[in-house]
Amino acid sequence: MTRPARIQALISLIFVVSVAVGGFFIPYIGFAVALVMLVALIMTLIKPRSFCTYACPRGKALGLALKPFSRGKPLPKGFATAGTRRALCGFMMVCVISSIVRLFQIPAALGTFFWSVCVISLLGGVALGLLYRPRAWCAVCPMATLQETIGGFRRPAATQAAGEKS
Ligand code: SF4
Repeated sequence: MTRPARIQALISLIFVVSVAVGGFFIPYIGFAVALVMLVALIMTLIKPRSFCTYACPRGKALGLALKPFSRGKPLPKGFATAGTRRALCGFMMVCVISSIVRLFQIPAALGTFFWSVCVISLLGGVALGLLYRPRAWCAVCPMATLQETIGGFRRPAATQAAGEKS
């Protein structure tokens, strides 16, 4: 890992731990998770999967923190099927949208919701990272599936635009 990449991973780790711990005491910290999700969507619209590659604090934090402790094994075959990933992503989207609709007038409760999404998925990421590879969570990550889905919608549009130019 290069020095800049290591520094970015360290900052990501501090960010992830601060949100996970701080959000327990200050619900509004949970909105940092909503902000990260929004950044992921915007970056995906500009360039598919660029958020995973350049910005995701979760992926970088897991990669750095779990490297010394992970068994480093590959995920079992069939663990992350397309159906499983889509189901997880769909479930997350339903939870996020319904919670925004339900709680938008109670900001502290909405912040707590985003914080709990962060903590639950972080615990899943740590468990998978210890059992398999540090970033095994990325194989089932709903945000990755969402980025792929948006990227899939963008591709035909880009192809059509290229066709019109030629
Ligand atoms: S797959 Fe998910 S956790 Fe992994 S880098 Fe992408 S957004 Fe982050």
